[in-house]
Amino acid sequence: MDPVTPPSEAAPRTIITGCAIATVDPAGTEHASGHLVIEGSRIVALGAGSLPADLVTDGATIIDGTGLLATPGLVNSHHHLYQWATRGFVADGTLFEWLTGLYPVWAQLDPDITHHAAKAGLSALALSGCTLSMDHHYVFPNGTELLESTVTAAQAVGIRFHPTRGSMNLGKSQGGLPPDSVTETHDAILQASADAIDRWHDPSPESVLQVALAPCSPFSVTAELMAESAELARKRGVRLHTHLCETLDEEAYCLEHFGARPADYVGDLGWMGDDVWFAHCVHLSDEDVDLFGRTGVGVAHCPTSNARLGSGIARTRDLRNAGVAVGLGVDGAASNEAGTLQLEVHASLMASRFREGPDGMTVRQALAHGTIHGARCLGREADLGSLEVGKLADIALWKVDDLGGAGIIDPVAALVLGPPRGAEHVLVGGKLVVEGGELRTTDLETVTSELVRVSARQAAAMGAA
Ligand SMILES: [Zn+2]
Repeated sequence: MDPVTPPSEAAPRTIITGCAIATVDPAGTEHASGHLVIEGSRIVALGAGSLPADLVTDGATIIDGTGLLATPGLVNSHHHLYQWATRGFVADGTLFEWLTGLYPVWAQLDPDITHHAAKAGLSALALSGCTLSMDHHYVFPNGTELLESTVTAAQAVGIRFHPTRGSMNLGKSQGGLPPDSVTETHDAILQASADAIDRWHDPSPESVLQVALAPCSPFSVTAELMAESAELARKRGVRLHTHLCETLDEEAYCLEHFGARPADYVGDLGWMGDDVWFAHCVHLSDEDVDLFGRTGVGVAHCPTSNARLGSGIARTRDLRNAGVAVGLGVDGAASNEAGTLQLEVHASLMASRFREGPDGMTVRQALAHGTIHGARCLGREADLGSLEVGKLADIALWKVDDLGGAGIIDPVAALVLGPPRGAEHVLVGGKLVVEGGELRTTDLETVTSELVRVSARQAAAMGAA
């Protein structure tokens, strides 16, 4: 393939040679051995075989891709980074039992806990090949602004970040699930949402930071706030996200309180459109699947979290067949203690085949869910989610000739079906964030010891709750 621009003196070049490549482009192009050329932040050439002589540039950074598989960087479409400080609590509960056990602990969140939990979570994601993660933060005790704590963590780790300004305003005294101590007022939430967009949202194609609005769930947010959050998001040109159709308890709650199933309820509040993506969507009717396909809604599928909480198995095959973007999400690490994204690629395939049988999901569809589908959920598919000339150079390189992958004839199968693994190298916008399986940006020992410290602070809150 020809480069889109001639070599430039100014932009640094990185050349990756001798790797297998799974581009996840619309044609599903793959190369058993090929090359990638990056100039500045974007891919300027890729193709089969060794590097053409006219693309060799003095001074380029060369990455030997022998034994590696190059894929698009994985995209995490649902997460709660703060939950890294409360892993392992309520290990055997349902969603509602788990939430009611943890709300009082999260009521003690502060910038210190949130920042170090986020740094741990984002480090784990980067090491597992993730180059873009969203974060759904919805607990702001006493109105404490905590998004900055996550944004600075993402800047330190060096991956693209889409924080959402979440919210809860329907406390127990008003018929909601969370205690009033973790809710905010309607007006304060809308003001903080507008402030977050003003302060952090960068809509440019190169953006490393984009904000969305994300009221938490039908059982923790009023109908008025759901509707007005949608209005504000559309006025400001940002995306919308919430939890939906996660459990049968949620469905029963919506039927009792609103006389409607969850998808119908939020649909009436303006929450259907191609600027919306929902987390989970385990319990969908045929009509819901059809509605999502027609309106362009995306879904963040979280197979490990759904298994951990016993919520059920999402209808990924039906959603995909309806044209729905089905990204993958690790969900908060309190309901997915591993918190790594390559594992979700594996788990999505396994969950689908448990539910649908052997033709539920192919290994390449699993990889597409973890990459281009996630980019569609986050509105970044024009620049991210596949390896194509002109797109941003967000790339994961996987060592598939180690014991876990050695001899597996198909490198994509080695990645999806093989053992849990980290990435060998990870590039974000052409910059190496992970090299040789280690973070270049943050010191993992420090990240880990700080996580121990803030987890102890949350454990103390659990003891006091
Ligand atoms: Zn969640």
